[in-house]
Amino acid sequence: MDLADLTRELEELQAQALLAVDEAADAAALDAIELDVLGKKGRLTGVLRGIGSLPPEDRPRVGAVANAVRGAIDSALAERGAALRSSELRTRLVREAVDVTTPGRPIRRGTLHPINETIAEIAAIFGQFGFVVYEGPEIEDDVRNFQMLNIPPDHPARDLWDTLYVDVEGHLLRTHTSPGQIRVMHQEQPPIRALLPGRCFRYEAIDASHASEFFQVEGLMVDEGTTMADLKGLLDQFAKAMYGADKRTRFRPGYYPFTEPSVAFDVECVVCGGSGCPACSRSGWMTILGAGMVHPVVLQYGGLDPERYQGFAFGMGVERIANLRHSVGDLRLYMENDLRFLGQFR
Ligand SMILES: [Zn+2]
Repeated sequence: MDLADLTRELEELQAQALLAVDEAADAAALDAIELDVLGKKGRLTGVLRGIGSLPPEDRPRVGAVANAVRGAIDSALAERGAALRSSELRTRLVREAVDVTTPGRPIRRGTLHPINETIAEIAAIFGQFGFVVYEGPEIEDDVRNFQMLNIPPDHPARDLWDTLYVDVEGHLLRTHTSPGQIRVMHQEQPPIRALLPGRCFRYEAIDASHASEFFQVEGLMVDEGTTMADLKGLLDQFAKAMYGADKRTRFRPGYYPFTEPSVAFDVECVVCGGSGCPACSRSGWMTILGAGMVHPVVLQYGGLDPERYQGFAFGMGVERIANLRHSVGDLRLYMENDLRFLGQFR
Protein backbone atom coordinates (compact mmCIF):
# COMPACT_ATOMS: atom_id res chain seq x y z
CA MET A 1 0.00 0.00 0.00
CA ASP A 2 1.40 3.38 -0.95
CA LEU A 3 0.67 6.98 -0.07
CA ALA A 4 -1.93 7.42 -2.81
CA ASP A 5 -3.88 4.32 -1.70
CA LEU A 6 -3.99 5.42 1.92
CA THR A 7 -5.00 8.96 1.01
CA ARG A 8 -7.79 7.66 -1.22
CA GLU A 9 -9.04 5.35 1.55
CA LEU A 10 -9.12 8.23 4.01
CA GLU A 11 -11.02 10.41 1.55
CA GLU A 12 -13.51 7.61 0.92
CA LEU A 13 -14.00 7.13 4.66
CA GLN A 14 -14.64 10.85 5.05
CA ALA A 15 -17.18 10.88 2.21
CA GLN A 16 -19.07 7.90 3.66
CA ALA A 17 -19.03 9.33 7.17
CA LEU A 18 -20.27 12.76 6.07
CA LEU A 19 -23.11 11.13 4.14
CA ALA A 20 -24.06 9.04 7.17
CA VAL A 21 -23.99 12.11 9.43
CA ASP A 22 -26.19 13.95 7.01
CA GLU A 23 -28.76 11.16 7.07
CA ALA A 24 -28.69 10.59 10.85
CA ALA A 25 -32.20 10.93 12.30
CA ASP A 26 -31.34 11.50 15.94
CA ALA A 27 -28.60 11.92 18.53
CA ALA A 28 -28.30 8.16 19.05
CA ALA A 29 -27.50 7.65 15.36
CA LEU A 30 -24.79 10.34 15.57
CA ASP A 31 -23.27 8.63 18.60
CA ALA A 32 -23.16 5.36 16.67
CA ILE A 33 -21.39 6.98 13.72
CA GLU A 34 -18.87 8.65 15.99
CA LEU A 35 -18.05 5.33 17.64
CA ASP A 36 -17.90 3.45 14.33
CA VAL A 37 -15.63 5.94 12.54
CA LEU A 38 -13.64 7.82 15.15
CA GLY A 39 -13.68 5.39 18.10
CA LYS A 40 -10.54 3.67 19.42
CA LYS A 41 -11.38 0.58 17.41
CA GLY A 42 -13.07 2.59 14.66
CA ARG A 43 -12.53 2.62 10.94
CA LEU A 44 -10.16 5.62 10.93
CA THR A 45 -7.78 3.82 13.28
CA GLY A 46 -8.09 0.77 11.05
CA VAL A 47 -7.00 2.69 7.93
CA LEU A 48 -4.08 4.31 9.75
CA ARG A 49 -2.68 0.90 10.63
CA GLY A 50 -1.40 0.80 7.05
CA ILE A 51 0.87 3.78 7.82
CA GLY A 52 3.65 1.47 9.05
CA SER A 53 4.24 0.13 5.52
CA LEU A 54 4.98 3.62 4.13
CA PRO A 55 8.40 5.13 3.82
CA PRO A 56 9.09 7.38 6.84
CA GLU A 57 9.07 10.60 4.76
CA ASP A 58 5.45 9.92 3.62
CA ARG A 59 4.07 9.27 7.08
CA PRO A 60 3.59 12.94 8.17
CA ARG A 61 1.60 13.63 5.01
CA VAL A 62 -0.79 10.78 5.78
CA GLY A 63 -1.03 12.03 9.35
CA ALA A 64 -2.02 15.49 8.08
CA VAL A 65 -4.71 14.02 5.82
CA ALA A 66 -5.99 11.85 8.70
CA ASN A 67 -6.26 14.89 10.99
CA ALA A 68 -8.16 16.82 8.33
CA VAL A 69 -10.55 13.88 7.90
CA ARG A 70 -11.09 13.63 11.67
CA GLY A 71 -11.67 17.38 11.89
CA ALA A 72 -14.20 17.36 9.05
CA ILE A 73 -16.17 14.47 10.52
CA ASP A 74 -16.04 16.01 14.03
CA SER A 75 -17.43 19.31 12.89
CA ALA A 76 -20.09 17.59 10.74
CA LEU A 77 -21.18 15.60 13.82
CA ALA A 78 -21.37 18.75 15.94
CA GLU A 79 -23.30 20.70 13.34
CA ARG A 80 -25.80 17.91 12.70
CA GLY A 81 -26.18 17.38 16.47
CA ALA A 82 -27.07 21.03 17.02
CA ALA A 83 -29.58 20.97 14.17
CA LEU A 84 -31.24 17.83 15.52
CA ARG A 85 -31.49 19.25 19.04
CA SER A 86 -33.15 22.44 17.90
CA SER A 87 -35.63 20.59 15.70
CA GLU A 88 -36.46 18.16 18.53
CA LEU A 89 -37.07 21.11 20.81
CA ARG A 90 -39.33 22.75 18.26
CA THR A 91 -41.32 19.53 17.83
CA ARG A 92 -41.69 19.14 21.58
CA LEU A 93 -42.80 22.72 22.04
CA VAL A 94 -45.47 22.28 19.40
CA ARG A 95 -46.59 18.93 20.83
CA GLU A 96 -46.75 20.18 24.41
CA ALA A 97 -48.26 23.54 23.68
CA VAL A 98 -51.24 24.44 25.88
CA ASP A 99 -54.06 26.23 24.15
CA VAL A 100 -55.24 28.53 26.91
CA THR A 101 -58.28 29.51 24.88
CA THR A 102 -59.72 25.95 24.87
CA PRO A 103 -62.91 25.86 26.97
CA GLY A 104 -62.62 23.73 30.14
CA ARG A 105 -64.04 20.21 30.13
CA PRO A 106 -66.93 19.73 32.56
CA ILE A 107 -66.03 17.53 35.54
CA ARG A 108 -68.57 14.76 36.11
CA ARG A 109 -69.48 14.89 39.75
CA GLY A 110 -71.13 12.09 41.65
CA THR A 111 -74.09 12.81 43.88
CA LEU A 112 -75.30 11.30 47.12
CA HIS A 113 -77.99 8.67 46.74
CA PRO A 114 -81.27 10.27 47.88
CA ILE A 115 -81.50 7.69 50.69
CA ASN A 116 -78.00 8.52 51.98
CA GLU A 117 -78.68 12.22 51.59
CA THR A 118 -81.92 11.90 53.59
CA ILE A 119 -80.21 9.87 56.34
CA ALA A 120 -77.45 12.48 56.52
CA GLU A 121 -79.99 15.26 56.91
CA ILE A 122 -81.92 13.37 59.61
CA ALA A 123 -78.64 12.69 61.45
CA ALA A 124 -77.64 16.36 61.17
CA ILE A 125 -80.94 17.55 62.68
CA PHE A 126 -80.87 15.09 65.60
CA GLY A 127 -77.15 15.71 65.96
CA GLN A 128 -78.00 19.25 67.03
CA PHE A 129 -79.84 17.69 69.98
CA GLY A 130 -76.87 15.56 70.98
CA PHE A 131 -77.84 12.33 69.22
CA VAL A 132 -74.89 10.19 68.12
CA VAL A 133 -75.04 7.75 65.19
CA TYR A 134 -74.62 4.03 65.94
CA GLU A 135 -74.84 1.11 63.54
CA GLY A 136 -76.01 -2.44 64.19
CA PRO A 137 -75.60 -5.57 62.05
CA GLU A 138 -78.04 -6.44 59.26
CA ILE A 139 -78.07 -10.07 60.37
CA GLU A 140 -79.59 -10.16 63.84
CA ASP A 141 -80.61 -12.88 66.23
CA ASP A 142 -84.21 -13.59 67.06
CA VAL A 143 -83.55 -12.58 70.67
CA ARG A 144 -82.60 -8.98 69.90
CA ASN A 145 -84.86 -8.53 66.89
CA PHE A 146 -87.95 -9.79 68.77
CA GLN A 147 -87.70 -11.22 72.28
CA MET A 148 -85.81 -8.39 73.98
CA LEU A 149 -88.16 -5.95 72.29
CA ASN A 150 -91.05 -7.51 74.18
CA ILE A 151 -92.12 -9.70 71.25
CA PRO A 152 -91.96 -13.31 72.53
CA PRO A 153 -92.12 -16.22 70.05
CA ASP A 154 -95.89 -16.68 70.32
CA HIS A 155 -96.70 -12.96 70.38
CA PRO A 156 -99.37 -11.98 67.82
CA ALA A 157 -97.38 -8.84 66.96
CA ARG A 158 -94.92 -11.03 65.06
CA ASP A 159 -97.49 -11.06 62.30
CA LEU A 160 -96.60 -7.38 61.75
CA TRP A 161 -93.25 -8.46 60.37
CA ASP A 162 -92.81 -10.92 57.55
CA THR A 163 -89.38 -12.12 58.46
CA LEU A 164 -86.59 -13.42 56.20
CA TYR A 165 -84.65 -16.07 58.13
CA VAL A 166 -80.99 -16.85 57.65
CA ASP A 167 -79.81 -20.45 57.40
CA VAL A 168 -78.19 -20.23 60.83
CA GLU A 169 -80.10 -21.29 63.92
CA GLY A 170 -81.89 -18.35 65.53
CA HIS A 171 -80.69 -15.73 63.03
CA LEU A 172 -82.59 -13.52 60.62
CA LEU A 173 -82.31 -10.40 58.49
CA ARG A 174 -83.38 -7.65 60.85
CA THR A 175 -86.95 -6.55 60.20
CA HIS A 176 -86.39 -3.14 61.79
CA THR A 177 -83.57 -1.06 63.30
CA SER A 178 -85.09 -1.47 66.79
CA PRO A 179 -82.70 -4.27 67.92
CA GLY A 180 -80.08 -1.50 67.84
CA GLN A 181 -81.81 -0.09 70.93
CA ILE A 182 -80.84 -3.23 72.87
CA ARG A 183 -77.27 -3.13 71.53
CA VAL A 184 -76.81 0.53 72.50
CA MET A 185 -78.25 -0.03 76.00
CA HIS A 186 -75.83 -2.94 76.48
CA GLN A 187 -72.95 -0.78 75.29
CA GLU A 188 -73.62 2.62 76.89
CA GLN A 189 -74.73 4.00 80.23
CA PRO A 190 -77.43 6.72 80.43
CA PRO A 191 -77.76 9.44 79.43
CA ILE A 192 -78.17 7.79 76.01
CA ARG A 193 -78.99 9.68 72.83
CA ALA A 194 -78.56 7.30 69.94
CA LEU A 195 -79.52 7.44 66.29
CA LEU A 196 -79.51 4.13 64.41
CA PRO A 197 -79.82 4.32 60.62
CA GLY A 198 -79.76 1.10 58.64
CA ARG A 199 -81.10 -1.29 56.02
CA CYS A 200 -83.96 -3.58 57.00
CA PHE A 201 -85.53 -6.57 55.30
CA ARG A 202 -89.00 -8.06 55.05
CA TYR A 203 -90.58 -10.75 52.98
CA GLU A 204 -92.73 -8.61 50.71
CA ALA A 205 -94.12 -8.78 47.21
CA ILE A 206 -92.39 -5.80 45.58
CA ASP A 207 -94.42 -3.01 44.01
CA ALA A 208 -94.45 0.79 43.96
CA SER A 209 -95.14 1.01 47.69
CA HIS A 210 -93.64 -2.24 49.02
CA ALA A 211 -89.97 -3.21 49.09
CA SER A 212 -88.15 -6.20 50.55
CA GLU A 213 -85.25 -3.94 51.46
CA PHE A 214 -85.71 -0.51 52.95
CA PHE A 215 -84.07 1.92 55.34
CA GLN A 216 -85.09 3.04 58.78
CA VAL A 217 -83.69 5.52 61.24
CA GLU A 218 -84.27 4.61 64.86
CA GLY A 219 -83.82 7.03 67.71
CA LEU A 220 -83.37 6.23 71.38
CA MET A 221 -83.05 8.51 74.37
CA VAL A 222 -82.71 7.14 77.91
CA ASP A 223 -82.12 9.23 81.02
CA GLU A 224 -83.58 9.89 84.44
CA GLY A 225 -86.85 11.77 84.20
CA THR A 226 -87.34 11.48 80.43
CA THR A 227 -90.97 12.15 79.54
CA MET A 228 -93.42 12.07 76.67
CA ALA A 229 -93.18 15.87 76.57
CA ASP A 230 -89.47 15.59 75.74
CA LEU A 231 -90.35 13.23 72.91
CA LYS A 232 -93.04 15.52 71.57
CA GLY A 233 -90.81 18.61 71.75
CA LEU A 234 -87.94 16.85 69.99
CA LEU A 235 -90.08 15.44 67.17
CA ASP A 236 -91.77 18.81 66.70
CA GLN A 237 -88.36 20.42 66.23
CA PHE A 238 -87.39 17.67 63.80
CA ALA A 239 -90.54 18.16 61.69
CA LYS A 240 -90.04 21.91 61.57
CA ALA A 241 -86.39 21.54 60.54
CA MET A 242 -87.29 18.97 57.89
CA TYR A 243 -90.50 20.40 56.46
CA GLY A 244 -90.66 24.06 57.48
CA ALA A 245 -91.08 26.10 60.66
CA ASP A 246 -94.78 26.73 60.00
CA LYS A 247 -95.72 23.03 59.94
CA ARG A 248 -98.15 21.82 62.59
CA THR A 249 -97.65 18.36 64.09
CA ARG A 250 -99.73 15.97 66.18
CA PHE A 251 -99.54 12.69 68.09
CA ARG A 252 -102.09 9.96 67.54
CA PRO A 253 -102.37 6.78 69.60
CA GLY A 254 -100.41 3.92 68.05
CA TYR A 255 -99.24 0.45 68.96
CA TYR A 256 -95.78 -1.11 69.18
CA PRO A 257 -94.87 -3.95 71.56
CA PHE A 258 -91.65 -2.21 72.63
CA THR A 259 -93.10 1.19 73.56
CA GLU A 260 -95.83 2.09 76.06
CA PRO A 261 -97.60 4.35 75.40
CA SER A 262 -97.05 4.31 71.63
CA VAL A 263 -97.90 7.06 69.18
CA ALA A 264 -97.97 7.84 65.50
CA PHE A 265 -96.45 11.22 64.70
CA ASP A 266 -98.15 13.28 61.97
CA VAL A 267 -97.03 16.39 60.12
CA GLU A 268 -99.35 18.71 58.26
CA CYS A 269 -99.56 17.47 54.66
CA VAL A 270 -96.57 18.82 52.73
CA VAL A 271 -98.57 18.70 49.48
CA CYS A 272 -101.79 20.55 50.37
CA GLY A 273 -100.71 22.29 53.56
CA GLY A 274 -103.51 20.69 55.56
CA SER A 275 -106.57 21.36 53.43
CA GLY A 276 -106.80 17.76 52.23
CA CYS A 277 -105.63 16.16 48.98
CA PRO A 278 -105.16 12.68 47.46
CA ALA A 279 -101.60 12.46 48.86
CA CYS A 280 -102.87 12.65 52.44
CA SER A 281 -106.13 10.75 51.80
CA ARG A 282 -107.92 14.09 52.31
CA SER A 283 -107.01 14.10 56.00
CA GLY A 284 -104.59 17.04 55.81
CA TRP A 285 -102.00 14.99 57.78
CA MET A 286 -99.15 12.67 56.93
CA THR A 287 -97.73 10.12 59.33
CA ILE A 288 -93.93 10.31 59.21
CA LEU A 289 -92.90 8.09 62.10
CA GLY A 290 -93.88 5.90 65.04
CA ALA A 291 -92.68 6.51 68.58
CA GLY A 292 -93.34 5.99 72.24
CA MET A 293 -91.91 5.61 75.71
CA VAL A 294 -89.56 2.63 75.94
CA HIS A 295 -91.41 -0.30 77.52
CA PRO A 296 -90.07 -1.07 81.04
CA VAL A 297 -89.51 -4.69 79.94
CA VAL A 298 -87.26 -3.47 77.11
CA LEU A 299 -85.27 -1.28 79.52
CA GLN A 300 -84.80 -4.34 81.72
CA TYR A 301 -83.59 -6.40 78.76
CA GLY A 302 -81.23 -3.50 78.04
CA GLY A 303 -79.79 -3.95 81.52
CA LEU A 304 -81.31 -0.71 82.90
CA ASP A 305 -83.49 -0.21 85.95
CA PRO A 306 -86.93 1.06 84.79
CA GLU A 307 -87.55 2.49 88.26
CA ARG A 308 -84.62 4.82 87.76
CA TYR A 309 -84.50 5.38 84.00
CA GLN A 310 -87.10 6.28 81.42
CA GLY A 311 -86.63 6.54 77.72
CA PHE A 312 -88.34 7.18 74.45
CA ALA A 313 -87.77 5.68 71.04
CA PHE A 314 -88.85 6.60 67.54
CA GLY A 315 -88.47 5.00 64.15
CA MET A 316 -89.02 6.32 60.66
CA GLY A 317 -88.92 4.91 57.16
CA VAL A 318 -86.25 6.79 55.23
CA GLU A 319 -87.91 6.15 51.84
CA ARG A 320 -91.12 7.73 53.10
CA ILE A 321 -89.24 10.84 54.27
CA ALA A 322 -87.39 11.00 50.94
CA ASN A 323 -90.63 10.51 48.99
CA LEU A 324 -92.18 13.51 50.70
CA ARG A 325 -89.06 15.64 50.18
CA HIS A 326 -88.59 14.81 46.51
CA SER A 327 -92.11 13.82 45.39
CA VAL A 328 -90.99 10.32 44.46
CA GLY A 329 -93.92 7.94 43.99
CA ASP A 330 -92.25 4.56 43.46
CA LEU A 331 -90.02 2.82 46.03
CA ARG A 332 -88.37 0.69 43.35
CA LEU A 333 -86.56 3.76 41.99
CA TYR A 334 -84.34 3.83 45.07
CA MET A 335 -83.05 0.32 44.42
CA GLU A 336 -82.66 0.34 40.64
CA ASN A 337 -79.73 2.79 40.68
CA ASP A 338 -80.72 4.25 37.33
CA LEU A 339 -78.37 7.21 36.84
CA ARG A 340 -81.12 9.18 35.10
CA PHE A 341 -83.03 9.04 38.40
CA LEU A 342 -80.06 9.48 40.75
CA GLY A 343 -78.58 12.36 38.74
CA GLN A 344 -81.56 14.55 39.68
CA PHE A 345 -80.43 14.83 43.29
CA ARG A 346 -77.70 17.28 44.16
ZN1 LIG B 1 -102.62 16.74 51.51
